[in-house]
Amino acid sequence: MANKFNYDHYKTIPEPAEKVNFKKKKPKLIAVVDEDNCTGCQVCVPFCPVDCIEPIPEEKYGIPIPPVQVRHDECIGCQICAKVCTKLTWDAIRMIKTEAFEDIYDMTLSG
Ligand code: SF4
Ligand code: SF4
Repeated sequence: MANKFNYDHYKTIPEPAEKVNFKKKKPKLIAVVDEDNCTGCQVCVPFCPVDCIEPIPEEKYGIPIPPVQVRHDECIGCQICAKVCTKLTWDAIRMIKTEAFEDIYDMTLSG
């Protein structure tokens, strides 16, 4: 009998990262989590190739499942987390141009 489920939706989802890499140069884009939109499901975490997504410490908001945050100075701008969040869970990660990010957050990223 033919499979009655359609899994096409999952074909464009990247594989989880096999090993942790490190940033070599400053990326053009940076991932920013919209904390108000993030469910804290952590589905995006194992997909990040440089392992720079982590839950916000519980004490900051005092809620059992806090949203995640990106360690921005380690992000390589690959956009995988944004795709994974949009495809598998929610839509809580925005990719922002690095220059705009540095202006908005008043910080200079390394690289
Ligand atoms: S997959 Fe999306 S909703 Fe889930 S923790 Fe990551 S950013 Fe938040
Ligand atoms: S864009 Fe997302 S998955 Fe890629 S390095 Fe940055 S935080 Fe990690």
